[in-house]
Amino acid sequence: MTTEKTCNSCNDSQCTAQQKRPGEREEDFLERQVLLSRMCRIQRKIMVVSGKGGVGKSTVAVNLATALALAGKRVGILDVDIHGPSVPKLLHLEGSQIAASEDALLPVALRYGDGNLHVMSIGLLLQARDDAVIWRGPRKYGAIKQFLKDVEWGELDYLVIDSPPGTGDEPLAVAQLIENADGAVVVTTPQEVAVQDVRRCIVFCRQLELPVLGVVENMSGFTCPKCGELVRIFGADGGRAMAEEMRVPYLGSIPIEPEVVVSGDSGKPMVLAHPHSETAKAFGRIVRTLLEPELRAATERPVAARDGALSRIAVPVTGGVLSSHFGHCEQFVLFDVDAEGKSVLQTQVLKPPPHEPGTFPRWLREQGATVIIAGGMGSRAQSLFAENGIRVVVGASSDQPGILVRAFLDGCLSTGANACDH
Ligand code: ADP
Repeated sequence: MTTEKTCNSCNDSQCTAQQKRPGEREEDFLERQVLLSRMCRIQRKIMVVSGKGGVGKSTVAVNLATALALAGKRVGILDVDIHGPSVPKLLHLEGSQIAASEDALLPVALRYGDGNLHVMSIGLLLQARDDAVIWRGPRKYGAIKQFLKDVEWGELDYLVIDSPPGTGDEPLAVAQLIENADGAVVVTTPQEVAVQDVRRCIVFCRQLELPVLGVVENMSGFTCPKCGELVRIFGADGGRAMAEEMRVPYLGSIPIEPEVVVSGDSGKPMVLAHPHSETAKAFGRIVRTLLEPELRAATERPVAARDGALSRIAVPVTGGVLSSHFGHCEQFVLFDVDAEGKSVLQTQVLKPPPHEPGTFPRWLREQGATVIIAGGMGSRAQSLFAENGIRVVVGASSDQPGILVRAFLDGCLSTGANACDH
């Protein structure tokens, strides 16, 4: 049954809050509606993500949000990094009491000139400063969902979301629950390892069809206060080179400054405490770039055109057509595509190894696959493919593989519900 109703917030009958998904339980549908209706009142939702922890993701999220508030915008910052929520500390809000209305949690409001910064962190809900969140599996997903659903933001220009690091279940849950986010800012450091992690992170965003707004390289070099020489402690320009290679915008670099640590510890973001510092200037440039309409246009291209890595597309097949569940397929057809992603150069049919969780993503990576077109696929399998650098397109219909790949390359592959039975 599809519920026909106009969203209370956006009055858009196309709003996904209105459409009950096939097989969706009534209570899940109602919860999703509440979350999406709250999100509909926010103009732009930007997720700040990273391939791993410790690269300065929260520092970047807090400074971006504060810089936007200082520019007179109505801004929210949502800290959903459930294992290391650091936003309360970075904004000197540890121990703040959360106000609640009958059915919602109300963010803590800070005022900066004409702008506002509304803060909500999972850390503010924990009893003691050192409490760790130890939810596991489905409870973790449920807890993240409830937390996201319960916060009443009101009307905002921007919501900056400090996501959990990596490409596992937690960032996946956040990205899937905030269905209509505008895009992700990916934070990395110049070292090769962090850069490899961030490659995975970009593939992960693509798999979720979350546009990558751009890459920020943090801890990008240290200017000696005595002689003025720039010392590239963690290497040079890894983030820029990687952004070029992955064909995503490069938003800029933030230097290492000892004051960043001091300002973080004292709860006053650099853009507020030291507005003339190199770090604050670098954030100013990044915010200006994020506000540019061209960047928005660039990230709103169709999925197929946005992805530079289409070279080998895998389709699981049974009886000559797409398998409704990839794990039970008889064979994989692999399509090699030209550099422009326009035409198929050759195809290969391969029998897969016996199906065990995690086998197919690894095996397909070894075969050089970069995309899999699937009918149904569970979220765990999707993240395993993402970890192996393979983008997943789910919900394709049971057609011949050649027809599906042609439609995908032409940007007109229609996908329906993810009919996963797992
Ligand atoms: P993440 O959210 O990725 O785990 P944080 O934002 O918590 O990382 O930063 C980790 C540590 O690095 C903090 O102590 C922070 O103050 C410090 N830090 C972040 N960016 C810089 C920088 N540009 N210069 C110096 N120290 C930084």
